[in-house]
Amino acid sequence: MENEPVTDRSAGSATERVYNFSPGPAVLPLEVLERARDEMLSLPGVGISVLEISHRSPAFDSILEETLQGLRQLLAIGDDYEVLLMQGGASLQFSMVPMNLLRGRQAAANYIITGTWGQTGAKEARREGKVHVAWDGGATGYDRLPDAKEIGLSDSPEYVHVTSNETIQGVQWKHDPDGGGAPVVCDCSSDFMSRPIAVQKYGLIYACAQKNAGIAGVTVVIIRKDLLERSRDDLPTMLDYRTYAKNGSRPNTPPVFAVYVLGLVCQWLRDSVGGLAAMNRHNAAKAKLLYDVLDAAGGFYAGHARPECRSDMNVTFRLPDETLEKAFIKGATERRLVDLKGHRSVGGIRASIYNAMPVSGVESLRDYMLEFQRNQRG
Ligand SMILES: *Cc1c(COP(=O)(O)O)cnc(C)c1O
Repeated sequence: MENEPVTDRSAGSATERVYNFSPGPAVLPLEVLERARDEMLSLPGVGISVLEISHRSPAFDSILEETLQGLRQLLAIGDDYEVLLMQGGASLQFSMVPMNLLRGRQAAANYIITGTWGQTGAKEARREGKVHVAWDGGATGYDRLPDAKEIGLSDSPEYVHVTSNETIQGVQWKHDPDGGGAPVVCDCSSDFMSRPIAVQKYGLIYACAQKNAGIAGVTVVIIRKDLLERSRDDLPTMLDYRTYAKNGSRPNTPPVFAVYVLGLVCQWLRDSVGGLAAMNRHNAAKAKLLYDVLDAAGGFYAGHARPECRSDMNVTFRLPDETLEKAFIKGATERRLVDLKGHRSVGGIRASIYNAMPVSGVESLRDYMLEFQRNQRG
């Protein structure tokens, strides 16, 4: 039997907690919060809080090492990849990827744009070199993924950039995109460690931690070692991937607390959840609870993403009008189901149900959706 990944404790210090459907920073596993609380004043055997510790201390050496090992083990990352921890969020990677992989090169970077984040990434890449948009789903409001035959790559792209899960629109790749021989670069920010990923099919994977993997402040970059050779010497030191690779992600003071929490999340995924395949099954089951409601709603709840590319992380839908949407959000908040408002660019409702959202939270939302619809008829 797999463990239910989240303990739904309604007693003790956690009684005040609501169900947090925020798109990020987002819900964390209660076990992780409790461990961080218990160790807040003194790391076991160290006598210093992780908030006060030197990033060159032996205690932090172990935290960093365990965190990197945790990532490598969960994602089955081979020795031909570097795992780098950085700051600046996924947004800095929108610039660092083209600075390191595109600057000074002849051919174009290709972007497959399936939503707002992909669009933003392409915009930053244009500052560094040629960008070719190989597909853009804007015509239908970013509600789908391209078919393989719709993707028009340019000649020998420097890399092909995709966004595995578009957090705002709720569109998620269900297979690994094909770069036609070019390295595939993936913004995995909002489904990182929610499911296994075939790392060897990618040249570079990046993800900020504050959706599924921890708290804001640390960003994970997994890069195939040969791609490090593309970085040029005119790059600012701190924007050069080689700086982090050479210095074991510690060229300067890393975000110590964020690295620590990322490590705790890795331990939780390994020991309490049972790995990423188990996590993926839990996530798919949670998402199905809500998509089943959309499918049976007779149009009252209209899903944004087309069924074949619906996200297991961000469930996006509209109600018949904005007045009803406001009433829906108000009623939800009264039931302790919070942060369900869709992104301002899309409107409607967005339920972000990342790894740490318990099944009980999704069930509560499902029950509320059914009841809200029934009440409209009454
Ligand atoms: C949240 C998010 C980002 C932006 O992350 P920051 O850490 O705030 O820069 C980029 N891409 C995707 C897919 C995201 O979900």
